[in-house]
Amino acid sequence: MSQETTIIEGDTGIFEIVVGLEVHAQVLSQAKLFSSAPTAFGAAPNSQVTLVDAALPGMLPVINEVCVAQAVRTGLGINAEINLWSRFDRKNYFYPDLPQGYQISQLYHPIVGEGSVEIELEDGSSKTIRVERIHLEQDAGKSIHDLDPRSSHVDLNRSGIALMEIVSFPDMRSPHEAGAYLSKLRSILRYLGTCDGNMDQGSMRADVNVSVRRPGEGLGTRCEIKNVNSVRFVQQAIAHEARRQVEIIESGGSIKQETRLFDPDTGETRAMRSKEDAHDYRYFPDPDLPPLVVTQEQVDAIRATMPELPDQKKKRFVEELGLTDYDASVLCADRANASFFEEVAKFAPAKLAANWITGDLFGALNKAELSIAESPISATQLGQMIGLIDDGKISGKIAKQVFEIMWQEGGVPADIVEERGLAQVSDTGAIEAVIDQLIATSPENVAAYKSGKTKIIGWFVGQVMKETGGKANPGIVNQLLKAKLDQL
Ligand code: MN
Repeated sequence: MSQETTIIEGDTGIFEIVVGLEVHAQVLSQAKLFSSAPTAFGAAPNSQVTLVDAALPGMLPVINEVCVAQAVRTGLGINAEINLWSRFDRKNYFYPDLPQGYQISQLYHPIVGEGSVEIELEDGSSKTIRVERIHLEQDAGKSIHDLDPRSSHVDLNRSGIALMEIVSFPDMRSPHEAGAYLSKLRSILRYLGTCDGNMDQGSMRADVNVSVRRPGEGLGTRCEIKNVNSVRFVQQAIAHEARRQVEIIESGGSIKQETRLFDPDTGETRAMRSKEDAHDYRYFPDPDLPPLVVTQEQVDAIRATMPELPDQKKKRFVEELGLTDYDASVLCADRANASFFEEVAKFAPAKLAANWITGDLFGALNKAELSIAESPISATQLGQMIGLIDDGKISGKIAKQVFEIMWQEGGVPADIVEERGLAQVSDTGAIEAVIDQLIATSPENVAAYKSGKTKIIGWFVGQVMKETGGKANPGIVNQLLKAKLDQL
């Protein structure tokens, strides 16, 4: 990622990239925004459609209070102002998968006002990306053009599902910053439980506004790249679009404001339609819905149930548990990872737990393409195993064997160590015997040690470990070796 960004910034020369994102996040809710139809992903086409979603004549929308609470919760999660009074407007346009002929949205009075998201830059410093607003709106259905050569199909399952449109200010200056913002936003939504953040299922998608300018100039004309559905694609789309705009400007042309599409196969953006403005949609207040009023008490009640968010958690992991900034960032980016770590740390020192999770466990999970929820080794098992290292019962090297056994066959770490005779040898008598034998059979290395080449003690330690199958306690081996060699 960092390499990609470097190349891109070089490619735009003196031009600065300016990026703003409009993220559509599907609200986690059992029912749709204005109907009781279910919202599960992957259901049979048109199996989750009420008369309201199909916009039959005379049907009236009724607001789902869960969706409203989720929007408020999201607003609180990005430190935004909550507008106790907001209103729904109709955005009028024709599309075959929009049976109402309009989308119910909130143009003029969104439920959430200005907030902010902190992102981490490549040099480790942080930057605040301001959020302009979050409004609630309906999703449209889906047109399917590739099932039949002569006709198109429409699936209304998505029709009427609640979306939060989260609009940022144009505060991002590189593909990296945009990627960091989108990742952080997704992490916050997942912690809050207000959106599952599954971009590959369409639960979160970004409209990316890109413009370029020379230093000191005002904002350039922007192009909007619609519906980009992965963090990586957002970065690629910005890189390509910025280069395209710079080329046009440098060859004396000017940028036309337009809506563009990103093609993941070619990594390019292409024109879709010239940009429409708000007035083209003939917005007006929806006469079927009264203004949306939320009380301060309701907001306070939601605030009282807010979880610890990624930034706070990271701070606690660093300040109270002594983790490095890097380990804390990696663990906190995902709520499930952070919870797993906290479970493990109940049995073992935090730093050691973080090392094992971000190292061996993540490595094994990646290789097996498993999520942490699917880990064959539970947090308790891993914690107990690390506890054995910490108690001096097994060495770190033997622990890797125990880890492998638990991964393949399961089992309680202490039992595995016991049954397979993996316990560390701390019995000084047994270790001394090995050392004496070694000293007797390696006079050259003993002589080297005595002549001042004390580093050779490492070789002796290695031999003792080898001789004991890695089970000797390295601390004791070191101590005894030094004592014996110095005595000679
Ligand atoms: Mn929208």
